[in-house]
Amino acid sequence: MRLEISCSKCSEQIAPGGSGDVYSCVYSVCDDGIYEFECPQGHHTTTVLRTPKHEVLYTIGANAFLDGYFRDAIASFASALERYYEFALRIISRHKKITLEMFMETWGFMPNQSERQYGAFITVWMIERKGEPYTKFSKTQIDKSNTLRNGVIHKGNIPTPAQCLEYGQYVMDIIAPIEKVLLADYAAAHKDECFALFRDESTKRATPITALSIFSVLDSALKNDDKKLEPIIARLEEVRTYKGNFSVGVKHQMVTHHRK
Ligand SMILES: [Zn+2]
Repeated sequence: MRLEISCSKCSEQIAPGGSGDVYSCVYSVCDDGIYEFECPQGHHTTTVLRTPKHEVLYTIGANAFLDGYFRDAIASFASALERYYEFALRIISRHKKITLEMFMETWGFMPNQSERQYGAFITVWMIERKGEPYTKFSKTQIDKSNTLRNGVIHKGNIPTPAQCLEYGQYVMDIIAPIEKVLLADYAAAHKDECFALFRDESTKRATPITALSIFSVLDSALKNDDKKLEPIIARLEEVRTYKGNFSVGVKHQMVTHHRK
């Protein structure tokens, strides 16, 4: 998956009602969410992706589905869920005034162990929500989804498109009720966590940086009443067609848009 980042200084230089060229750079998505480039006019731009990691992963999964890479789609949906559990724990910790250092010290005991992280999440949720379950899925349903995921990730199984959509929907159905609670009862901490990377990078740098949000498949679906993946995948396909399908490929390239 790639994304397009415009030079903010080119855009600023166009007077209201005027016209001019704006350079953009098309990038493959990177892990740290920080994108820097120099446009042909010599402007240096630093852009921070504000979209949370789990939403980026989920969107990568949806793009992989549209590209026909069904194994990769399930792997990315599964990673999105793992990162979402971490996101939820970070929010609850912030809400409890736990510092990032304290959080990281404990997280350091399980950085590469998703089962431990999941265990940490369900235990914290149980204590925090006084026994209220985090999901309506039964243990049998959860085991069935985990078996599909493990077969794909560890055994090289190639899922069908239907299994892919079903798994993506399952991940969304796990996240939706948790996100609803976090947005309602932990709103300030939720907002704080979403802005953390941008804020940290802003304070580190002498020059201003810009924030960017991508079309988030998960966020778009969660904002709909029916919370269904399939219609949002169709919308993503439209977005890709409109943008010339630049999500496919690995080459970094500079593009020019003439604004009037
Ligand atoms: Zn520029």
